[in-house]
Amino acid sequence: MRKFSAHRIYPVNRNPISFGIVETDDDGTILNIRETGGKPVEEAGLEFYPGIIIPGMVNAHCHLEVSHLKGLIPEHTGLSGFVSSLQKIRHIDQEKIVQAAAEADRVMYMQGVSGVGDISNLELTLPVKLKSRIRYHTFIEIFGLDAVIASARFQNGVHLARVFSEAGQPNSLSPHAPYSVGKAMWDLLSREANPSGRISIHHDESPEEWELLELGTGPLAEGFRRAGFDIGNLPSEAPDIFQLLDKYLPVDELILVHNTIMEKVPSARDIKRTVYWVLCPRSNQYIENLLPDIEAFAASGLTVCLGTDSLASNHSLSVLDEMKVILQAVPGVTFETVLRWATLNGACALGMEKNLGTIEKGKLPGLVNIPVFDWLQNRLGPRSQPVRLI
Ligand SMILES: [Zn+2]
Repeated sequence: MRKFSAHRIYPVNRNPISFGIVETDDDGTILNIRETGGKPVEEAGLEFYPGIIIPGMVNAHCHLEVSHLKGLIPEHTGLSGFVSSLQKIRHIDQEKIVQAAAEADRVMYMQGVSGVGDISNLELTLPVKLKSRIRYHTFIEIFGLDAVIASARFQNGVHLARVFSEAGQPNSLSPHAPYSVGKAMWDLLSREANPSGRISIHHDESPEEWELLELGTGPLAEGFRRAGFDIGNLPSEAPDIFQLLDKYLPVDELILVHNTIMEKVPSARDIKRTVYWVLCPRSNQYIENLLPDIEAFAASGLTVCLGTDSLASNHSLSVLDEMKVILQAVPGVTFETVLRWATLNGACALGMEKNLGTIEKGKLPGLVNIPVFDWLQNRLGPRSQPVRLI
C-alpha cells in the first residue's frame, strides 16, 4: 500500500481536502481517502508532495495517428489552410507514424493523462494503445462526399472497428463532421452503426465551415470544389447537428468537439439528450486564432470536457495546458469548474467513469501532483506543471 498527501487533495466528486491522505494499493486502486482535520500529520510511509494532487486527466479529443506532424503545419491559416497542409504531408512512412504516436502516448501519460478519446482512420496506433498505460476509446472516423466510393470506404471503417474490437479496444464508428459526410455515407451509418453507442463529431469549428454549410461558399467550399468534391451531396440537415443526427444517427451519447463558433451556447435545460461538449482551446487558437465562448459554457450547466486535438494543431497533448489557457483567458471561471471538465466529465463522455475521473474508493484514476499552485487566486499559474505520481 502507498499513502499520498499534499497541501490540498482535489478528489473532484467532493470538496478539496487540506492535507488529506489518499491510500492506494500497489496497482493504483484507491483504497481510502482520509481527512486529517486540515492539519499535516506524520505517519510511517506517508509520501508528502507540495502543492495539490488531482486525479489523472482525460483528453476527450485527440488524433494520435498524426503526432508525426508536430510543428509542420503553420498557425492561424484557418480550417481550409489547415486541411490542405494536412493533405500534403499526412502520408509518410508508417514506421515514423508509429514512433511518433508511441512517443506522444508516453509523454501524454507522464503529463498526467489517464484516458483518451482518440480519432483514428488507420490501424497504426493499435499496438501503441495495447501497450499504453492510458485507457483509450477509439472513434473510427467515417467521412466522404462521393456516393460511388461510399460503400467501400464505409466497409474499411467497419473492418477497422472489428480489428480494434478483436484486440479488446473499445471503439465506435463516428462521422467526421457535418461538412465532410455525404448523404450516401450517412445512409450507411444509419443502417449499420449501433444507435446505443457513442459518437464523437467535429462541430462548429470554424467560420469557413459555417459558410460552406449555410451558403455553399468560402475558402473551405472552394477547396472542396478544387479537389473535385461535390458539396451538393451533403444532406440538407447538415447545418443543424441535432436535426442531422435525429434523421440518420439518433445515438444515446453524443460528443460534440470544438463548438468554437456557436452563435449561442444553449442552456442545459434546452438539450434533450446526453451531449458532451468538448472544448479544444489551444487547437482553436492554433488553427483559427479563436476561442469558444468559454464563459457561456461555464454558465450553461452543459457537460463540458477538454481535448487537445492533435499535435498537427497543438504544441502538446497536455490537458493541464488546456486548463491553463482557459483559466488565463477567462478569469471568471473557477479552477474547480475547469478541473471537473478535465477529469470527471471527460471520463463520463468516454464511458470510463467507473475507473477514471475522480479520486474515489475502488477507482484507478492515477494521481497527479501539481507542485506550483497559485494559492492566492486559487488557480493554476503559468509555471504550474503536472507530475505523474501513479
Ligand atoms: Zn479533431
